[in-house]
Amino acid sequence: MKSTRRIVVIGAGVGGLAASVDLARSGCEVTLIEKAPYVGGKLRSLEPQGRAIDAGPTVFTMRHVFESLFADAGRRLEDELRLHPASLLARHVWGSDPAILDLHADPQRSMDAIGAFAGASEARGFGEFLDRAGALHECLREPFMMSPRPTTSGLMREIGFAGMLTMWRTPPWLTLWRALAEHFRDPRLRQLFARYATYVGSSPLQAPATLMLIAHVEQSGVWLVEGGMRRVAQALASLATHCGAHLRLGNGARRLEVRDGRIVGVHFEDGDFIPADNVIFNGDTQALADGLLGEDVRRAVTSRRRSERGLSAVTWCVDAPTRGFDLVHHNVFFGDDYPREFSDIFERRKITTQPTIYLCAQDRGEASSPLSAGDTERVLILVNAPADGDHDGITDDALAGLEQRVFSRLETSGLIVSRKPEHLVATRPQDFAQLFPATGGSLYGSANHGAFASFARPNARTPIQGLYLAGGSVHPGPGVPMATLSGRLAAACLLRDTD
Ligand SMILES: Cc1cc2nc3c(=O)[nH]c(=O)nc-3n(C[C@H](O)[C@H](O)[C@H](O)COP(=O)(O)OP(=O)(O)OC[C@H]3O[C@@H](n4cnc5c(N)ncnc54)[C@H](O)[C@@H]3O)c2cc1C
Repeated sequence: MKSTRRIVVIGAGVGGLAASVDLARSGCEVTLIEKAPYVGGKLRSLEPQGRAIDAGPTVFTMRHVFESLFADAGRRLEDELRLHPASLLARHVWGSDPAILDLHADPQRSMDAIGAFAGASEARGFGEFLDRAGALHECLREPFMMSPRPTTSGLMREIGFAGMLTMWRTPPWLTLWRALAEHFRDPRLRQLFARYATYVGSSPLQAPATLMLIAHVEQSGVWLVEGGMRRVAQALASLATHCGAHLRLGNGARRLEVRDGRIVGVHFEDGDFIPADNVIFNGDTQALADGLLGEDVRRAVTSRRRSERGLSAVTWCVDAPTRGFDLVHHNVFFGDDYPREFSDIFERRKITTQPTIYLCAQDRGEASSPLSAGDTERVLILVNAPADGDHDGITDDALAGLEQRVFSRLETSGLIVSRKPEHLVATRPQDFAQLFPATGGSLYGSANHGAFASFARPNARTPIQGLYLAGGSVHPGPGVPMATLSGRLAAACLLRDTD
């Protein structure tokens, strides 16, 4: 019975790829369709000088999520991807006479570095912060992340007494920004650890303090992928095809056909139609709510009220020589006023004058051969922006001004990127909005603002029979491992429902 189920997965982001793997290996007939001519969705790359530069995610964590996906399909992750543990997590930079702080995979080294940077009491604060992040991770991992449909009451039942104490100390209404003040007096450290809110597209001033568990996730291992992050998407796609999924690239889904409350098939942009017993939608769920896949499936997302969009970004992929600053793989050049940076984005809907700059130097670190002086190198530069790309894009003049400010800011810390216009490709919120329909350019679905935002995300099941959801806008949320988990949760729900 199961072997005859025809399933269409719409979108070859990591969520769609993971769902395709699990369904195909379970004997379903899976067609994975993707409107772009490549797999990976946000894991895309650009080639300003003919060499691929990762233009999406760069921080690879939670390796175990991918290990178990591969293992369940009878393969070994290490045979398909070469992953190197990063000994240095990130270099953090402030000011013109740059103050520099490195965080390391070894927490003791980080603690020593923080002690030397800001004093012994800040180092102690870091130790306590890591303990608290670890306890939150322990408490929320199973009942929240791994649960197909977490609720606040269910969570309270499952976490037990130790979990209650952990949540008592870090209740969901406490913001990350306020919680960090309990650990760090030095504003630079508060700023550094507040950055974790941006990993899920949110402002640390509004995001719950529970997000500090991301510090624990990073401390448990950040990996550098040989050949770049795009290799992750390629490896997932070949695993899916190995399991029997059929891939159709460069053709989008235009409309989902529903009869008597049940999915019956998918109409393509080019006019084709394929019948389907089940569909997993891996695009942003707002696309369904906005009617982009047809009136029949608008109600798939029960709350049609547009929730607050998460962060978008302006990025530059640059292939050029750099000098004057000792870059590592992950670098952050902080702006002066973090609260202002986020109130500008979320309230005044603009990029702040002097934004924090993330720079991924992709040819550095354990997964790359050492660079020689004068070599060109591949970097991704990112600043946060409001997700207004569908109605208020960034003009060419505004982009030129921003670019000037960003590269001058890097120069004040000593980093000179010898770039010519042909060395770089910029991506603005309006470009992300086009790539990922109904998002306005948000890279992470809805913002995780307020006490209950984590519970407000749609989960895999929808009110429409046969239609399931996967991806960063779905529980358990954005980020490569989380979206992968969501794909697995969607596949598991579908298989359970059709058993
Ligand atoms: C610049 C940037 C930096 C990031 N940094 C990190 C990081 O360092 N670490 C991390 O873990 N995460 C990071 N993220 C977030 C992470 O990339 C995403 O959360 C994750 O990749 C989302 O996966 P997804 O399954 O939701 O699919 P997506 O990547 O959103 O892909 C969805 C796919 O569906 C396709 N699609 C949509 N509609 C249709 C349709 N109608 N028909 C056919 N196809 C359709 C789209 O073309 C797309 O390919 C970053 C994202 C960006 C953009």
